[in-house]
Amino acid sequence: MRKPVIAGNWKMYKTIGEAVDTALALKPLVGNANHCEVIIAPVFTAIKTVADRLEGSNIRVAAQNCSTEIEEGAHTGELTARMLRDAGAQFVIVGHSERRQLYSETDSMVNRKCAAALASGLDVILCLGESLEQREQGTAERVVSGQLTGGLSGLTASDLDRIIVAYEPVWAIGTGRTASPEQAQEMHAFIRRVFMERYSDQAANDLRILYGGSVKPDNIAGLMSQQDIDGALVGGASLKADSFAQIVNYK
Ligand code: PEP
Repeated sequence: MRKPVIAGNWKMYKTIGEAVDTALALKPLVGNANHCEVIIAPVFTAIKTVADRLEGSNIRVAAQNCSTEIEEGAHTGELTARMLRDAGAQFVIVGHSERRQLYSETDSMVNRKCAAALASGLDVILCLGESLEQREQGTAERVVSGQLTGGLSGLTASDLDRIIVAYEPVWAIGTGRTASPEQAQEMHAFIRRVFMERYSDQAANDLRILYGGSVKPDNIAGLMSQQDIDGALVGGASLKADSFAQIVNYK
């Protein structure tokens, strides 16, 4: 059985103090959530303090990005995965559509970030998703499989159990427009098939595939009822402890 994952992406919101307040408010609300793994991704500057304050709880911390470079060096403004690990992150979100769109991240950069993260002890949440135009043109599966195989290129079978995939159709992120549970299920099943063809039945069966895109307390249960949906990556609704806790406690 795949253990579900509910992850909150706090994007570029919250000062250190605000992030700590939200994390501490969340802690008791999800303290009994043994049915899933709970992850939050605060901004870089808050990772260390939030991770320290959550020590011993069932909430783990992710970074929202990392450098393509494994080694420290002259890369002004960047952070290596090792530095993020050192600050207390256990995961990193890689290839989020906002980074692909606003910062021109390519599959090859995403691939280097995945490799750097794994080599530095961070597990990866790899984001994939088509735009509305691509969906309407009928190329959604081609786009998503290209992002998946491009992002994971060169990774070994032993790396795969440290990868979580998040399918986030770009047209559903921050728009209030969620993919229907059936639409999401269809793409999740497709992603699992691609994984099966590329790696193995076992790797595909073990892969956790999260859905992301306007997940809210009132739509999580429908999404989670689908066979190939193993959790959610939540943006807006993760910013408040009570709404994120309701999503975590969807059961
Ligand atoms: C996200 O940022 O990954 C996301 C899914 O955002 P939202 O839930 O706000 O659509």
